[in-house]
Amino acid sequence: MTTAVNNIHPHKSENCKRTEKLIQEITQIRKKRNAVILAHNYQIPVIQDLADFVGDSLGLSRQAAATKSDVIVFCGVHFMAETAAILCPEKRVLIPDLEAGCSLAASITLDRLVKWKAEHPGAVVVSYVNTTAAIKAESDYCCTSGNALQIVKSIDADKEILFLPDVFLGSWVKRMTGRENIHIWMGECHVHTAIHPRSIDEKMREHPQAELLIHPECGCLTPYLDRVARLVKGDQLKVASTEGMIVRACQSPAKQFVVATEVGILHRLQKENPDKEFIPIQDEMSCQFMKMITLEKLHAALANDQYQVTVPEEVAAKARLSIERMVAVG
Ligand code: SF4
Repeated sequence: MTTAVNNIHPHKSENCKRTEKLIQEITQIRKKRNAVILAHNYQIPVIQDLADFVGDSLGLSRQAAATKSDVIVFCGVHFMAETAAILCPEKRVLIPDLEAGCSLAASITLDRLVKWKAEHPGAVVVSYVNTTAAIKAESDYCCTSGNALQIVKSIDADKEILFLPDVFLGSWVKRMTGRENIHIWMGECHVHTAIHPRSIDEKMREHPQAELLIHPECGCLTPYLDRVARLVKGDQLKVASTEGMIVRACQSPAKQFVVATEVGILHRLQKENPDKEFIPIQDEMSCQFMKMITLEKLHAALANDQYQVTVPEEVAAKARLSIERMVAVG
């Protein structure tokens, strides 16, 4: 027994030493290079703890636009770094791994959007922020899960709307606004789609006093919402964006929460609410693209000045318009 412990312990401490060294070096290099580290809510805890700001993609883009730093290291997925590059073209935006993509953003291509628009001349295009710069450039409005409803409500009721790329967020917006003239792209995020209605049944039965925080991208959301609403009591159900979840958890009198989104958010929820309990809807709800960003890659990004994300100015200018229209609505 003693031998086994002795065998494991030195190995563990080597890992700890390595992590400490990396953190120390990252801290030094980022100061020297006047760099800011932005981390999405779904990043691994050590990256979140090191970051200057943690938030959702739009919140981070706003931080990027406001920063006085010369370099922005975006710990998130590629379209998010692109959005930062669109909003602050004079900054050097780096992503620690160029392969960190997004299944939802990949569900629509420029060709397919152009064809869809041609089938609905005059329609207003509303794109969820999880899209490439090229798609944003072909859109009238950008939106987040936090303001999608508000954006759609601001559009003339007679106008046709093309909502993309998330089918669940689109269906939820359609249901909440009661608009029939919304056409919805059939894209989905592989992580949120995997949330099964059965998991909600089970978790809410196990924790009957818990509040349920559910992301509008969830695969179960639209067809299941009525049933969930019957299963949980009045205020127990909150449909919220990731930032909305953080705010709700802080303000709610509830002590227990079942969280239906990517598990990375549990770190921040717990950190900001140490006296409350957060239960993941499914332990395996993890986005492998978000988890591609590691401490080693963050270190390499700063030390080797890699990998820069740029957007051609003619695309960026059009994409910026759709983002600015969103910001103007709220
Ligand atoms: S969780 Fe889904 S929407 Fe978010 S980055 Fe991963 S694949 Fe994209």
